[in-house]
Amino acid sequence: MHALLDLVFPPRCAGCDRPGSLLCDACAAEVRRIDPRAACVRCGAPVARPSGCAECRGRTFAFDSAYAATLLEHPVSRAVVLLKDGGERRYAGLLAGLLAERADGWVDPSCAIVPVPASPAAVRRRGFDHAVDLALTLGELRGMPTIRLLESSPVADQRSLGRQERFANRAGAFRLARPRGWEREAEVPARVVLVDDVLTTGATLDAAARVLRAAGVVEVRALVVARAMRADA
Ligand SMILES: [Zn+2]
Ligand SMILES: [Zn+2]
Repeated sequence: MHALLDLVFPPRCAGCDRPGSLLCDACAAEVRRIDPRAACVRCGAPVARPSGCAECRGRTFAFDSAYAATLLEHPVSRAVVLLKDGGERRYAGLLAGLLAERADGWVDPSCAIVPVPASPAAVRRRGFDHAVDLALTLGELRGMPTIRLLESSPVADQRSLGRQERFANRAGAFRLARPRGWEREAEVPARVVLVDDVLTTGATLDAAARVLRAAGVVEVRALVVARAMRADA
């Protein structure tokens, strides 16, 4: 499918806009991975210090840990924008590759991948759910089941909100979905990897993890493509 798409709409690099690929070799080499050994295990920020992580200090999260492949910076930030706001779905594959790389070593096949669903308004606007695309591709790459265990309810757009408001806004944003083909008595998986594109305050992932915990999920890990750091950090 992509081969035909590439022929009709040749891909351009998210970094330098040169035609030929979604991310050219030179720009791909610029992507800085977050070193897991030097990252906060709670929120994925690359700021682990003896004094603790300034990004998540004072916060409690319903997820056990968070992992981010990269920082939200060029060229990954542009790839995310092209995927979400530019309708360029081919970036789901590229970004899922970063997720798969990051998942190595700590995700095992007994975990189920669960996408954090986008809001119904965003799905209408885009025509697809970018997090579902990322999760399904990651599942294919790693041979893990992807289950659409969460549904989104309509809430205000997060992007115009401050940090505190985001937490309040996201509470109640999700509910448990019954995936197609499941019987009522089907058991929820014990261990889940929640997948999303970006972690900013953790509010969205927290709201999603809360619903999973209430449904009986024992371990919830969050895996995101990019960690957006607070401007004042
Ligand atoms: Zn480039
Ligand atoms: Zn932290």
